[in-house]
Formats: sequence, structure tokens, C-alpha cells
Amino acid sequence: MANTLHVQNVTYRYGAKTALDDVSFELAQGRFCALLGPNGAGKSTLFSLLTRLLVARQGTIHVAGHDIAHDPRAALAKIGVVFQQQTLDLNMSVAQNLRYFAALQGLSGRAAQQRIDQALDRLAMRERAGEKARNLNGGHRRRMEIARALIHDPQVLLLDEPTVGLDTSSRQAITDHVHDLADSGLLVLWATHLVDEIRPDDDVVILHRGKVRAHDRAAAIAGAGSLSEAFIAMTDTPVPSL
Ligand code: ADP
Repeated sequence: MANTLHVQNVTYRYGAKTALDDVSFELAQGRFCALLGPNGAGKSTLFSLLTRLLVARQGTIHVAGHDIAHDPRAALAKIGVVFQQQTLDLNMSVAQNLRYFAALQGLSGRAAQQRIDQALDRLAMRERAGEKARNLNGGHRRRMEIARALIHDPQVLLLDEPTVGLDTSSRQAITDHVHDLADSGLLVLWATHLVDEIRPDDDVVILHRGKVRAHDRAAAIAGAGSLSEAFIAMTDTPVPSL
């Protein structure tokens, strides 16, 4: 399997409600891909399938060549996830939070410390290692969660609306950092409904009512107009103001 993430003909229903309808796309290593869709498009459902919180009965998902249904352990080992809800222990320091997660991944001692330092460096967070999570602002807490998601050295980083609730400069910093991670070789899948987080060279999958409406570079989807205009035309959804 050449591509790092391969979603093929995935359909998912909650009872009678179809949340994903024959969704297929492939993404390559070292790309930033925005999963762009309005509320209810199916983004969270797709993330739940990619992290195996839900199991697809129809279709297949391969991560780095591993079928998530047949070899979930190998597939999930290649994925780092940043959920929309904050999942930090606010009473622990940044380093303690990361060491705790490393231990859950079976890492300890010098190997763990090395991974933690590398992950913090990638997010420009090393100087914050000793600070209590409670004392960090929202943007730095998010960066710490991203660092944590990198500790087991995944190939794919999933982020579910990671800038919700952040101020403009924190949003910008996180968007820049995560683009840098893609440039350094990670495959990033970034769920959002905010068009301004997407750059012309990014990949974009537009999801609407459970179906893939477009999959291309952002600039190609925008064509002669803007990505917002293309998104509105495909989804009948006004782009939310920031
Ligand atoms: P998004 O993350 O893009 O907002 P979701 O994946 O949360 O979209 O939802 C996709 C569709 O599935 C929506 O119509 C939503 O109402 C429905 N849905 C999501 N979760 C459930 C659930 N637990 N039970 C029934 N319907 C659900």
C-alpha cells in the first residue's frame, strides 16, 4: 500500500442515520490534509473509526499498510491523536504528563526522556517542561497535547478541530507548528470547519452529509475563486465568522 492512510468505501450508520456514505480517499506521507466539513458532516465519526472507538462494518481502513480491522494494534501504533476535548492532568507538569503517557506506551527511562524532549522541541515547548499544565494558556496546553501525541513516533497525526476556543495568535501558532510537522514527514489529518486554517498547497477533503464532495489541493478546489466560495457552493453552509 503506497499511501499512508487509505480509506476505502467506508459507510457508517448510527441506527437509521447514515453518518458516512461510501467514503474513500488516500493520503501520502508528509502531507497536511484538512478534513473540511460543516457540523454534522461526519468528521468526528470518521476520526472515531480511524482510532477504533467505532468499528466500520462496511469498507476498509489501512494505516501505513496495516488493516485496522485485522491488525488494529499495528495500525493504531502508527497514529497519534489530539481529541477536541482537553485530556491533560492539570495538576501535573508538562514533563510529568508526557512521562505518564510515555509509560502507557511502554517507554521509560532514557528512551522516554529522549522522545519527550524531541516532541517538546518540535512544538517549541521544551522551556515549559517544568510548568504545571494548569498554568499554561490554552494554546500551550494544545501544543503540549500535540507533543504528547508524537511521543510514540507515529506516522499519522489526527487532530479534531484543534483550535476551537483559542485566540487568534494561538490558533496561528498551532496551525504553523502542525504545518511544520507535515513538512518534516508526518501525515497530518486536521478536521476543521474553518477555511482560513488551510493553505493553498494543503490537501483538502470536503465532507458533507457523510459524502466526500471534493479531494484535491486547496488551490485546485478554489479554482479561480476562493476556497470559502467553493466550500459554500458544495455544502450550502455559510463559513462561520471567527
Ligand atoms: P461532525 O463531526 O462533522 O460534526 P459527526 O460525525 O459528529 O459530524 O456526525 C455525523 C452525523 O451523524 C450527524 O448527522 C450526527 O447527528 C450523527 N450522529 C453523530 N453521532 C451520533 C450518535 N451517537 N447517534 C446518532 N447519530 C449520530
